[in-house]
Amino acid sequence: MADGEVTDDTRLRATLPTVTELADKGAIVLLLAHFGRPKVPSPQFSLSRVTRAYQDVLGRPVRYVDWEVAEENVAMLQPGDVAILENTRFFGGEEKNDPAVARRFASLGDLYVNDAFSAAHRAHASTEAIAHLLPAYAGRAMEAELNALEKALGRPERPVAAVVGGAKVSTKLEVLRNLVARVDHLIIGGGMANTFLAARGVDVGRSLAERDLAETALAILAAAERASCTVHLPYDVVVATAFKPNPPGLRTANVHEVGADEMILDVGPAAVEALADVLKTCRTLVWNGPLGAFETPPFERATLRLAQTAAALTQAGQLVSVAGGGDTVAALNQAGVADDFTFVSTAGGAFLEWMEGKELPGVRALEVA
Ligand code: ADP
Ligand code: MG
Repeated sequence: MADGEVTDDTRLRATLPTVTELADKGAIVLLLAHFGRPKVPSPQFSLSRVTRAYQDVLGRPVRYVDWEVAEENVAMLQPGDVAILENTRFFGGEEKNDPAVARRFASLGDLYVNDAFSAAHRAHASTEAIAHLLPAYAGRAMEAELNALEKALGRPERPVAAVVGGAKVSTKLEVLRNLVARVDHLIIGGGMANTFLAARGVDVGRSLAERDLAETALAILAAAERASCTVHLPYDVVVATAFKPNPPGLRTANVHEVGADEMILDVGPAAVEALADVLKTCRTLVWNGPLGAFETPPFERATLRLAQTAAALTQAGQLVSVAGGGDTVAALNQAGVADDFTFVSTAGGAFLEWMEGKELPGVRALEVA
């Protein structure tokens, strides 16, 4: 949203298969959703602002229902009608998984369908508690997401490669710990690679790296070795002395020749060709995190090159490729290959927690139901 308008309707469109299928079969479809992080009801976070955009996307009338009059308004709806209920986070108990709030939600319907994989890592009244109160099902988007993730890491075709990069190093170390036991090749790029190189005693100059995590990084490398997982760290890198577009001092260097005043901002051209060759031997790929600072030219090159390789292998039927993460998806869009991957997850946090091997409360509640 910007200035009260929907500027990206990706997540609205993601609900269409479920909503149209239910409405076409004669259900009254009530949409429960959250928007923003309101602490108390506030017009700025009202879903009334989204109703018209949703109606345009859906191509049929959509009503907006305020909680004040929910019971009366819902009672007047006819089979096939679609309505958006006001922001679930206007209830303080929503994020506390409050059973009383869940009962209020549940009282309005006969069946519960959860189509929000991206919210499944949180136990909220509208994602968890409610699933214990009504017959509960996964929607089509949730189903597609779970099927794709299961195919990529649950029972994948081997060999499996994982690419992990980006900047959120400490939050992704748990992901790596889980992955080394499950994948055949672990490709590390971005700020993550700098942390591992530094842990191995390589001087990474002024690069983004979490030097205090050296011990954890070395433990992950040891675990990888025990699990026969091959870890790929870049052996050449693109460096500069300033972090800006086409900066001075831009050069390709061997990792052992990075100057004290230089920053590693991308995986080098030789290393990325070797990574492309690794992908050619694999059947499955799961990717989170760009290989370099792809928003700033020319540090997008390695990410784009590897993304294009993965896309071509996928299109040739040789690779199942699954990617997730806000910046990762942006990078795939920049490379023009998001549609060529097998599956691109709309979820950020939920995708990462799933890669960590954690059980997602919203998914677990559906399984129990
Ligand atoms: P995602 O959103 O896909 O989970 P992250 O948020 O962890 O990914 O990381 C993305 C960010 O990492 C991007 O903004 C990118 O510029 C940055 N990045 C990648 N490699 C480097 C690097 N070598 N140095 C600094 N920043 C980097
Ligand atoms: Mg990010």
